Amino acid sequence: MIEVEHLSKNYGATRAVQDISFRVEKGEVIGFLGPNGAGKSTTMRMLTCYISPDAGTARIAGFDITARPLEVKKRIGYLPENNPLYLDMGVIDYLKFIAALRGIPGGRVRERIRHVVDICGLSSMAAKDVGELSKGYRQRLGLAQALIHDPDVLILDEPTIGLDPHQIIEIRHLIKNIGREKTIILSSHILPEVAATCDRVLILNRGSIVGSGTPEELSALSSGGQAIVAVIRGPRDRVEAALSAIEAVVEVRHLGEDAGLQRFELLSLEADAVCERIFFAVAAGGWSLTELRRKSINLEDVFLDLTMREAS
Ligand code: ADP
Repeated sequence: MIEVEHLSKNYGATRAVQDISFRVEKGEVIGFLGPNGAGKSTTMRMLTCYISPDAGTARIAGFDITARPLEVKKRIGYLPENNPLYLDMGVIDYLKFIAALRGIPGGRVRERIRHVVDICGLSSMAAKDVGELSKGYRQRLGLAQALIHDPDVLILDEPTIGLDPHQIIEIRHLIKNIGREKTIILSSHILPEVAATCDRVLILNRGSIVGSGTPEELSALSSGGQAIVAVIRGPRDRVEAALSAIEAVVEVRHLGEDAGLQRFELLSLEADAVCERIFFAVAAGGWSLTELRRKSINLEDVFLDLTMREAS
């Protein structure tokens, strides 16, 4: 359904997207995961024909984004970052306006609006102005406008950003339901988001894809227990510096202090060797080790690891 080939985009000297390629099959829900500035929005803007690529191309349902942008736009529903809405319009008037922009024939507008209002759970808000809606309902309206022309593909840029936990669960649920029928690409810088909603994750960092797989595969990527918890009695700064200096340690996080005991979590690529090195480093510092154990790594650790390796 979506074929991306060697897509690149620069903004002046900033290489926002560098030579990325991937495919999305019909009915898949794909997550772009990456820190801010990774190139997620830029990729989405190219796929939705809002900006043109400097190199490479993509096809949506067989139509090339550069050669056939109108055909591409017809097949895509897009919820941009920050969900731009006209706040002084009524909810239904806004949807009528979008339906007109999308060229939906007059005879079908009523039925399409009823359908998207229904699946996006907007019925109780239908009589209100957009400006009166809570953030969660505005996001539902953003999804409704993206769905109104019944597109094959939905592109959702940070669909749950700024929502409270309750609203996040509702929107995730909605996306999962819509994903049964549509091909979806969504972006997030939050891991649980993509793990909860996506079939497959592409990790972006500095404009490149640095990892991909199902949420389960990405966790398995790091089998071998590369996260290590160490509890050490000693001065925090010096202990932290000593741990950071250990070979093959990717990151040291201070988790907290309790009665002089410093709790750290280390990410490493060679857990066995690193456990031994921690022991010797602690002994050399004249400190004491009260706990040293491996933790099964989660998607968050993989994400940090992949994006940090790229950065270093
Ligand atoms: P993400 O969506 O992952 O946060 P973006 O695609 O928005 O990342 O940004 C990728 C890079 O391109 C960043 O370095 C960002 O500052 C830069 N960038 C994005 N949009 C513009 C723009 N309109 N003009 C100049 N630089 C931009």
